[in-house]
Amino acid sequence: MSDQKTVILASGNQGKLRELQAVLSDLGVKLLPQSEFDVSDVAETGLSFVENALIKARHACQETGLPSIADDSGLEVDALGGEPGIYSARYAGSHGASADADNNARLLAELEQVPESERTARFQCVIVYMRHAKDPTPLICQGSWEGRILFAEQGENGFGYDPLFYVPEHDCSSAQLDPDLKNSLSHRGQALKQLLECWNSHP
Ligand code: IMP
Repeated sequence: MSDQKTVILASGNQGKLRELQAVLSDLGVKLLPQSEFDVSDVAETGLSFVENALIKARHACQETGLPSIADDSGLEVDALGGEPGIYSARYAGSHGASADADNNARLLAELEQVPESERTARFQCVIVYMRHAKDPTPLICQGSWEGRILFAEQGENGFGYDPLFYVPEHDCSSAQLDPDLKNSLSHRGQALKQLLECWNSHP
């Protein structure tokens, strides 16, 4: 992908937008949020990150006529049988400004009796790149990031569950990492790296 290219981000999540833009802008990709094109909401009816990412990317292409990137991601907690998983954004049922705080409060409550050694978890991320709404071979890239769930929130960076996600290699939460360092380690950073490799080998 050599020329500057406009790509729509099929999400309204400001945290994802910041992290994806930080990497893609260096490569000459202008990533614009779908809100700038008044893209309507689409129901995430899939049962996997892959299905939901495809649904969101296709919908954004359909409504804008431009290529799109969708990121479907979430947190899998072993002691909760993999929950909240694909329901991570709506774990506590709320939307809007208080959703992250409500989700984190519910997660802490669910794990109240769970000891540290059993609080293993991982972030999962699927990034889809779709050239147009009928693209029969969208690029599908995945990354995951292992950690543990803390007993209380720590740190101010990032978004979502970051204040509760302990990163053993750095002995802190992902909300205490510098944003560039988080991008170099995270599920999203790994999926993006794969996407860049695909773009470089099939420009
Ligand atoms: P989606 O928009 O349906 O893909 O939901 C993603 C949700 O997963 C977010 O709203 C967060 O709750 C959580 N999540 C995904 N990636 C991260 C991350 O990097 N840090 C913290 N939470 C994340």
